[in-house]
Amino acid sequence: MLFDTHAHYDEEQFDSDRYEVIESLKDSGVSLVMNPASNMASSFESVKLSEKYDFIYCAVGVHPHDSKEMKDDDFETLKSLTENKKVRAIGEIGLDYHYDFSPREIQRQRFYDQLCLARELDLPVIIHEREACKDCLDIVSAFKDLKGVFHCYSGSWETAKIILNMGWYLSFTGVVTFKNGRNAPEVATKMPEDRIMIETDSPYMAPAPLRGSRNDSRNLRYICAKVAQLRGISEERAAEITMTNGKNFFGIE
Ligand SMILES: [Zn+2]
Repeated sequence: MLFDTHAHYDEEQFDSDRYEVIESLKDSGVSLVMNPASNMASSFESVKLSEKYDFIYCAVGVHPHDSKEMKDDDFETLKSLTENKKVRAIGEIGLDYHYDFSPREIQRQRFYDQLCLARELDLPVIIHEREACKDCLDIVSAFKDLKGVFHCYSGSWETAKIILNMGWYLSFTGVVTFKNGRNAPEVATKMPEDRIMIETDSPYMAPAPLRGSRNDSRNLRYICAKVAQLRGISEERAAEITMTNGKNFFGIE
C-alpha cells in the first residue's frame, strides 16, 4: 500500500467529485493521505476532511502565496486547530520567489513565525521552496531541532545534502518522472533510504504519462515505480520504505 504524503483534496479542482475520488483511493492501493493546507480557510477544510476519513491526516498553515493575508491572531487559530489529533504537521509553509504572490519580506516573516509555532507545538513542518533556496536554507538552519520535509523536491544534490545533514526528509512528486527533470531523479537515486517520501501534490504535478491533467493520489504508483527503478529495488520495496518513512515522519501508527 502507498502513502501519498502531500495532496490537496480541499482545493476547488475537486469540488465536483471530491468524495468519489477520495473513496476510490483504497482500491487503487493508496491507504494513507496527508492533506496539507495552503491558507487559513484551507486549514479548516483540511481538518474537516481528516475528520471525515480515517486514512486522511492533515497539516495546518499558510503557504507563501497567501502569507500577505495572514494576521497575527491567525496563530492562535492555527494553534487551536492542532488540538485535533489528525493534525500532524504545520504546512505547507515556505518561500516562493517564482510567483512572488506575497512580498518577499512578508513571506520570510510568516515562514519564520510558523517555524516558531511548529517548535512551540512540537510538530514537523512541510516546506515549499521555489527559486528561494538560499533564503530558505538560511531560515531553516535556525530550526535544526525541528523535523522537516522539503516537498516536491527538485533542487540540486548539493542542496539536498545540506537538508539531509539536518536530519530532514525529501519528498518527490511526478517531477521525478519528467523527461526534462535532472535534479529530482539524481537526488532520489543517491539519498538515504530512510529519508525519502513520495507524494502527488494533487491536483497539481501529474506524473509523466498524464502530465497537464488534474492529478489525484491514484497516480502515486507512477512515482513509486520511478523511484523503484532509479534505486534498483522492487516497487513493493519502494512502497514499503516510503510508507514507513511517512508514518515515522508524521507520527502515524
Ligand atoms: Zn502542496
